[in-house]
Amino acid sequence: MSDKIELKAYGKINLGLDVIRKRPDGYHDLDMIMQTVNVYDDIIITKTEKNGEIKVTTDKEVLSNEKGNLAYMAARMLFDEFGINDGIEIRINKRIPIAGGMAGGSADCAATLKGINEMFKLNLDEKALMERGVKLGADVPYCIMGGTAIARGIGEILTPLPAPPKCHVIIAKPPVSVSTAYVYGHIKPDSIEKRPDIEKMADAIRNKDLYALSKLLYNVMEDVTVPEYPVISQIKDIMINGGALNSIMSGSGPTVFGLFDNIEKAEKVMENLTQNNLTEQLYLTEFIN
Ligand code: ATP
Repeated sequence: MSDKIELKAYGKINLGLDVIRKRPDGYHDLDMIMQTVNVYDDIIITKTEKNGEIKVTTDKEVLSNEKGNLAYMAARMLFDEFGINDGIEIRINKRIPIAGGMAGGSADCAATLKGINEMFKLNLDEKALMERGVKLGADVPYCIMGGTAIARGIGEILTPLPAPPKCHVIIAKPPVSVSTAYVYGHIKPDSIEKRPDIEKMADAIRNKDLYALSKLLYNVMEDVTVPEYPVISQIKDIMINGGALNSIMSGSGPTVFGLFDNIEKAEKVMENLTQNNLTEQLYLTEFIN
């Protein structure tokens, strides 16, 4: 049994996001294309001498409530179910924007489930981990699987897709906070005028057609966030004017991403966004499958 495990918890972007309806249980039925990107948190799980204690430390002050951390909840769930009484520390070095629409908390949760499974040889397969993960968050099953997928239901009904065509991806988190609850509270599924064509997007991915895929990027949640936070449009405009094939917001925002087929153009846009002071976190990265 190893005493230390290090994992990468990758963030995601939504290449397409549609909200179909509000369900009687309060959740929303969604229709999305999820894509893992090479922006990750480090999750380092170490055994300690303090039996029964699950300690979580992070480099981000806002996550100081350790028992509310999804990594803590993941470990607690497996410790309780399997009667584990060892002590562990979970160290999280955050790079995925917090409350940014990139499922960072779910990614940490998924990585912790995998790490505990390995450290304590619980022999849970991916399906068993997903069944447990969905109890902690709708995006957790996807984060366990990773790669490219259509996600339906609340996000837990997953259809894997092949890797999309390679491109350069800029991820820009503006210095505003948007709560996921606020966006869901204000979206009106019945009056959405434009929606992404998820099936067409999946075809573009299968055909490895970056240009068709880029044209189809769409996120209905921008209807709620863009009027409220003009910085989202400003960043999209800089991306598109700078040569992005397209640019949209990820998840419930406010993170914006742009796809580029040309690295020089992407680098110029990175400079431009930095000079205009529009972002709090900025990455030039790529898809991961
Ligand atoms: P989604 O895309 O799934 O809506 P998000 O990217 O908008 O998620 P997260 O960063 O996953 O948002 O976190 C949302 C909230 O979850 C945070 O405000 C924070 O209080 C809580 N949280 C709990 N654990 C974590 C974690 N390990 N990392 C980030 N946030 C966490």
